[in-house]
Amino acid sequence: MKETGRTQAVVAVGCLAERYGKTLADQLPEADAVLGFDSYADMSNNLQRILDGEKPQAHVPRDRRTLLPIAPAARAGKANTVSLPGHSQPAAELADVAPASGPPVMRARLDGRPWAPLKIASGCDRRCSFCAIPMFRGSFVSRRPHEIITEAAWLAERGVKEVFLVSENTTSYGKDLGDLRLLEQMLPDLSALEGIERVRVSYLQPAEIRPDLLDAMASIPGVLPYYDISFQHASGPLLRKMRRFGDRESFLSLIEQVRSRVPEAGIRTNIIVGFPGETEADFAEVKLFIEQARLDVVGVFGYSDEDGTEAEGYGEKHDADTIASRVAELTSLAEELNAQRAAERIGTTISVLIEEIDEESGEIVGRAEQQGPDVDGVTLLDLQDFAEPVSVGDIVSATVTDSEGVDLIASLKTD
Ligand code: SF4
Repeated sequence: MKETGRTQAVVAVGCLAERYGKTLADQLPEADAVLGFDSYADMSNNLQRILDGEKPQAHVPRDRRTLLPIAPAARAGKANTVSLPGHSQPAAELADVAPASGPPVMRARLDGRPWAPLKIASGCDRRCSFCAIPMFRGSFVSRRPHEIITEAAWLAERGVKEVFLVSENTTSYGKDLGDLRLLEQMLPDLSALEGIERVRVSYLQPAEIRPDLLDAMASIPGVLPYYDISFQHASGPLLRKMRRFGDRESFLSLIEQVRSRVPEAGIRTNIIVGFPGETEADFAEVKLFIEQARLDVVGVFGYSDEDGTEAEGYGEKHDADTIASRVAELTSLAEELNAQRAAERIGTTISVLIEEIDEESGEIVGRAEQQGPDVDGVTLLDLQDFAEPVSVGDIVSATVTDSEGVDLIASLKTD
């Protein structure tokens, strides 16, 4: 509504803009510009030029892995020469200090939610054959701990109680900074920040999970019993075609290692079905894994070709009907097992972060420690249980009384 409304220009940014550049611009003639990651460092000037009537050329995408050295340790001194969305800009990086007025990256809070994602790294050095992410996000680069901690403190000052550490591969954190244990060292500092009650770690790559990391996650106060492990499949031969490690038995053993440390752990994963060459035996193997693993949440996705990936060139592709039918079958099984897992929590005590309060219906929506934001179900409480006033951002203790799918119904614990 540029002609009649307040909007003066439409600019496409983000992963799609970076990945497709000029191709996207050709398909979106209504957009005034399509800007890639390299435009971010000078974004306000770029936007001003667009408002002044300039029409910048859409960039031609390139494989961003080529922008930094292959050896992770050689990247640290060069990372500030590449535009990395969500990382500090070169000037702040060189000065090695955060701007006094705010976090080291430009960040605004558009909502009053009591949790916030907090980026700890960009890119990925793995080469899963179905995945295009490394091509447009580039090589793995960690943000420096002081930058992350400063941003977490800034979020805490704005009412955030839970920080959700995100990256493409959190288990790689620190390897380019010369210390693979940097995450374990940073977690206590994050959870000790005034106002931060919960630190949620996400996107663990099963091939890189170390016992030390599991020990740290299990023992550092404030780090949640939440394990987001992307298995993607469970058949060994198929995982090799995906260029991934592991198989059903090694994954079950990993899950056992988590549960032996944290029996109440919430564990989620994603599975791709219908990958090229997936046999009936492979599919049976992943179903068996889901039955045996008893996970809290399983996201099931049907395979589709991603431009420029190795798997795009594979033979033995399944037709759309086969993929849809495998997605439906595994989804139905996963939903049933995830619901059973939620029901197993009935009678347990949970800690709930309050996220919404509906005064009219009397319903309170929150999340237990095992439930990640947006995708893992919620916990429902009854406002009538509360003798004292309650606010969004409060953390309360509750007893699970029932479940609906992956959602938990709980009553306030009063003793
Ligand atoms: S699926 Fe994950 S680990 Fe594999 S290449 Fe993509 S981002 Fe990296």
